[in-house]
Amino acid sequence: MSEKPKFLQHVNVYDFTCELPGSKQTVQFKPVTTGQIKKLLSYENETNYVVQEQALDDLISSSVLSDGFDIGELFIYDRLFLLLEIRKKTKGEILEFQLNCDKCNSQSLQRVNLDSLEIVEPENLDNVIVELSNDIKVHLRHMKRKHQQQEMLPRFFPKNATDRQLGYMFQVLFHACAIDKIETPSGIDEELSIKDKIYFVEEIPMHEMEKIQKSVDSMGFGWKLEYGYDCIHCKHENKDMIPIQQNFFG
Ligand SMILES: [Zn+2]
Repeated sequence: MSEKPKFLQHVNVYDFTCELPGSKQTVQFKPVTTGQIKKLLSYENETNYVVQEQALDDLISSSVLSDGFDIGELFIYDRLFLLLEIRKKTKGEILEFQLNCDKCNSQSLQRVNLDSLEIVEPENLDNVIVELSNDIKVHLRHMKRKHQQQEMLPRFFPKNATDRQLGYMFQVLFHACAIDKIETPSGIDEELSIKDKIYFVEEIPMHEMEKIQKSVDSMGFGWKLEYGYDCIHCKHENKDMIPIQQNFFG
């Protein structure tokens, strides 16, 4: 009979907690291990956005120690918040990333201290109603990860699509997924299929779509990822988002 290695009772002891800004739920988690990185690396050449996000779901779920944790129940901004907390405890609070200057296109390496990022608290988690012309009211929801899992499917991001097409599809899907109900003088449509919601998003005039986009943007919370820097070559003031996927755990 072989005895279990003595070190076993001393690994898996690195645990941390954080409170999610949306649900206010406290989550207990451990840093990402080398074994988990190995698993993540098997997705390194994966280009499908949906599959990449699924790999991150697995990574987060396998880092969380809280009983009954269900990633589908996380608000998408709580998921991002938790991912950054896990990153901080895994690789430290300094994140390095490359950005291209909007004006001269030169690349520069940026460093940000993740502990210095501001946290935006959600005002509330109620639906937001956007009034469009023709008495159409769009009810927007605070998206949970399960909403995206159900509606943002891999087939919407085909391999042969261009980057611009993929970006367009992401925008359409993200906003369609945010729609909970559509209210018109004929009544309220609930339980709309993603197909119907995509049709709606693609058929309304662009200035109406901008109203929806503005409201969806305003419903964001958690880490403030807007980032400003002056280009060292041409001094242009750039405004960007911190690309948190780039070299995130590597
Ligand atoms: Zn520049």
